[in-house]
Amino acid sequence: MEILLVILLLLVALVTVVLLRTVLLKPTPAKEAKVPLDNNERAVEYGKKLSTLVKKETVSSRFEPDRTKFLEFHEILEEMFPNIHKTCEKHVFNGSLLFKWSGKGNHEPILFMSHHDVVEATGTWEHEPFSGDIDAEGRIWGRGTVDTKASLFCLLTAAEELMAEGYVPECDVYLASSCTEEWSGEGAPATVQYLKEHGIKLGLVLDEGGMILEEPVGGVIGTYGMVGVLEKGYGDVKFIARSNGGHASAPKKNSPLVRLGKFMVDVEKNYPFQHQFNSTITEMFTRMAPNMNFGMKLIFANLWLFKPLLTKLLPMINSAAGAMIRTTIAFTTAKGSNGLNVLPQEAFVTANMRFSPHQDDKESIAIITERAKKFGLETEVIYSDSPCPVVDYKAAPFKRLEEVAAEVYPGVGICPYVMTGGTDAKYYKEVSDNCLRFAPLYINAQQYASIHGLNENIYQGALPHGVDFYKKMIQKS
Ligand SMILES: [Zn+2]
Repeated sequence: MEILLVILLLLVALVTVVLLRTVLLKPTPAKEAKVPLDNNERAVEYGKKLSTLVKKETVSSRFEPDRTKFLEFHEILEEMFPNIHKTCEKHVFNGSLLFKWSGKGNHEPILFMSHHDVVEATGTWEHEPFSGDIDAEGRIWGRGTVDTKASLFCLLTAAEELMAEGYVPECDVYLASSCTEEWSGEGAPATVQYLKEHGIKLGLVLDEGGMILEEPVGGVIGTYGMVGVLEKGYGDVKFIARSNGGHASAPKKNSPLVRLGKFMVDVEKNYPFQHQFNSTITEMFTRMAPNMNFGMKLIFANLWLFKPLLTKLLPMINSAAGAMIRTTIAFTTAKGSNGLNVLPQEAFVTANMRFSPHQDDKESIAIITERAKKFGLETEVIYSDSPCPVVDYKAAPFKRLEEVAAEVYPGVGICPYVMTGGTDAKYYKEVSDNCLRFAPLYINAQQYASIHGLNENIYQGALPHGVDFYKKMIQKS
């Protein structure tokens, strides 16, 4: 009896602690924060200029070696940003750009980057993808508005305007923009190679990445700037099944395609990679917890209790959140025999993998190779790259970004997070320990969904804040 009573009392105490922690966690200003989107004179002027950049079609492809359109895009930039072209040292790496703005040399150099190539625009759009239309609500339409001509425009405009005021930065400021980002081409690696050859180590790299969003995660009420501090590793892997082939009229069991099928089902059913909440994910949820709906708040305000359960369940609840806490594998292409009535002597599937820091490329590939062996498959690594080092959100570069964000976007929450997609910043790990992935621009849910999709557009009213953000980042460096 007494034992039961003790257990009951303990349970009541536990529930009380959980509830108290939930109720006492008060909302932060991010809950009510809004980014004002005035169509003032400055926004209208910026909108027209961004529209000009969007009108120039700059679709990139690994199968198209001709870079003429990117050089034509540079001519537009030359006209739009005369001070940059007068003041800076300009380097062009086969269509990719690097400007060096010499400063007083008091601190380590910094680099802001973006890219000026875009993905193709298929399907039916409300406004033609390269129209650069500006509608009555002040939205600029077209492929590349969000990804990433807007941030390119803002970082160049910030430098241009500071130069016009006669400002000289404390450190060298580099401005970079590749024309091969969308297919991980040679632009950014060539730029990094140049920096390496000249012994340039960067105190900060600020690339595209997260943006300013309302409800960045379902159930979190508020406006947040999502700053990528970790980029997962990337891999393409091929799994090969062999047999003696033969005629399809007398098939044996376990033919190559069947083995590949069994393997893929097994990987999905018995997931081979570990789930782990790293410190970045924990920090992200801790910062969002105060503005969550009650159910989520109950869990995330009590991570001390629920973390093990959540680590297991998160990938089931939300695939994007799941991708942040584990290595992922997605089967992408497949090939059997060439004849409808011929058993393949060799069949294969390929998979795209994204590696978590806690199970990097080597470990993850070793695990999947072992699993494939069980089904009589060979594994061939086509390409693999390790995860990027995690940027410390307690260190100076992140704190500087937070300070600037607080000035430009009062009340907006700033959250570190894991990038599940890739950017050019991954190449910069060789020249900087602080690659932050954040385009300081507000976009709504539709605009977020339009990246690489239909109807890409951005508010011109968002642009002045973006310009101010880069200006302050330069002035505080
Ligand atoms: Zn893109």
